Amino acid sequence: MSKITLNDLSHSYLDKQNSDSDWALRNINLDWQDGGAYALLGPSGCGKTTLLNIVSGLLNPTKGKVLFDGKDITSQTPVERNIAQIFQFPVIYDTMTVYENLAFPLKNRGMSDGEIDLRVKEIAEMLELTKTLNNRASGLTADGKQKISLGRGLARSKVNVIMFDEPLTVIDPHLKWVLRSKLKELHQKINRTMIYVTHDQTEALTFADQVVVMHEGQVVQTGTPVELFEKPKHTFVGHFIGSPGMNIIPCKLDNGNAAIDGVKVSVSSQIKKSNFSKTEIGIRPEFVSFSEEGIPV
Ligand code: ADP
Ligand code: MG
Repeated sequence: MSKITLNDLSHSYLDKQNSDSDWALRNINLDWQDGGAYALLGPSGCGKTTLLNIVSGLLNPTKGKVLFDGKDITSQTPVERNIAQIFQFPVIYDTMTVYENLAFPLKNRGMSDGEIDLRVKEIAEMLELTKTLNNRASGLTADGKQKISLGRGLARSKVNVIMFDEPLTVIDPHLKWVLRSKLKELHQKINRTMIYVTHDQTEALTFADQVVVMHEGQVVQTGTPVELFEKPKHTFVGHFIGSPGMNIIPCKLDNGNAAIDGVKVSVSSQIKKSNFSKTEIGIRPEFVSFSEEGIPV
């Protein structure tokens, strides 16, 4: 088990960089505490997979460091880092049975047959795979195969961190809900650091205690689901979190209050005069109500 630190991490897939958009990741600084349940949330293309691959060692960052418990492991191989990574699409051996697929990572690490049997059955039970243990993996549906992938990632118990990269993409909606709750339960049971990557806010907010929101290669805010909803620090977070998202409307400052088109909007605390050239107000539509002119609700 480890605390994971990302220290001023930047990554570009290009040899030369001329502008911000040439970077897939820019100046990422993060601390993931030992045993935490984290989500990495952001739209497609914002750099989530790039970040995971750098943590697991599949990718070498252009700049910056990865530390486990304060030790620089940036040049270590994925095997040395002892991480379980579950990918978006199933990674399994079609010619093996479900049982053999789940047992494989354990066998590789020299576990005894008895221990393997117990562990495989426990994982199969959790993922509702018990009845299919003796079937060939090739005959399963896409979501059946992804359950095996999840099982293979979860089978090894002594890993530093378990990382999931949009693991429920190919799973049908009902099972998605079931598996999401199972993963949460599992985190509480085994207390390993887990990092769950998704573009789906519901998945992120139900799984994680702390959500890292990414936008165009940068981390724009880290917080609990409630903090992100109630106190977004970036217009992107206000708009991205919530359904529907926050409406962001240009406004002016009028004696510490906001004014939209000359109409004053009372705010809970007076706004100090800022030097920003642009002022906007974020409004969550579900909290809008109407009143007589000039009479606060
Ligand atoms: P996400 O997982 O959030 O969808 P990615 O990390 O896959 O985002 O991608 C971040 C950016 O890096 C995107 O602009 C993507 O096009 C680019 N990118 C990802 N993988 C590669 C690659 N192997 N070669 C070049 N560009 C890549
Ligand atoms: Mg991705």
